[in-house]
Amino acid sequence: MNAEAPDRTLPAFRCSGLAKIYRTGETEVHALRGVDLIIPAGEILVLLGPSGSGKSTLLNIIGGLDRPTSGGLFYRDLDLVAMDDAELTRFRRANVGFIFQFYNLIPSLTAEENVRLVTDIAEHPMDAADSLSLVGLADRRDHYPSQLSGGEQQRVAVARAIAKQPGVLLCDEPTGALDSSTGTRVLETLANANRTLGTTVVIITHNVGIAAMAHRVFHFLDGRIARIEVNDRPIDPSGISW
Ligand code: ADP
Repeated sequence: MNAEAPDRTLPAFRCSGLAKIYRTGETEVHALRGVDLIIPAGEILVLLGPSGSGKSTLLNIIGGLDRPTSGGLFYRDLDLVAMDDAELTRFRRANVGFIFQFYNLIPSLTAEENVRLVTDIAEHPMDAADSLSLVGLADRRDHYPSQLSGGEQQRVAVARAIAKQPGVLLCDEPTGALDSSTGTRVLETLANANRTLGTTVVIITHNVGIAAMAHRVFHFLDGRIARIEVNDRPIDPSGISW
């Protein structure tokens, strides 16, 4: 057996006893209180729970934007806790695509130029035009963000995130600013990346209906995972009721 071959059965993420305490002056906020979690590779995961229950904190930590106060965290066979800042940045650049509620596009660049910002520096990028085709915006590549609707701008953000072919897409309220029909189209682009590229997709949402497209749903409560639901039949985003 080739010892160099990647182990495809490894989960995307493994967290054990993950805790995060934010200290501001005298006050301590326990944002995560010992999270044990396995995120299988190639799945769509939805994180639900009340505001302040720790969802964004977990997403930022697994994405290498922040560090836990204690506990263990692996991406595949990479120990994220042991990494220094430069290694964590390299991990993030190579493996993680982020999508936030607000699209963070550069207004003075076209859709394609926004995507190129990533493809120009990524190790194994897809063509910027192909990435825009995957989100259904091939004919809008020369448009500026101000010439696109909110949903179209978010799809450019998805194209930008998937263009570097990351192992995982981490999405914090990706449809939070969108109405249901444009939100559905954005969710379809995420499901499409999962299906065609095998990307693991983690979505934080307040919209309980979105859970129906997930393979697994993690319910957060007060810095812990209160419940995990496994969904054997994830539905197409077009069937989600808002
Ligand atoms: P959610 O995403 O579920 O709304 P968060 O992870 O954003 O929850 O927040 C969890 C808790 O941590 C909240 O009480 C929040 O106020 C606190 N928190 C988040 N980020 C910070 C920070 N940078 N400094 C201090 N407290 C924070």
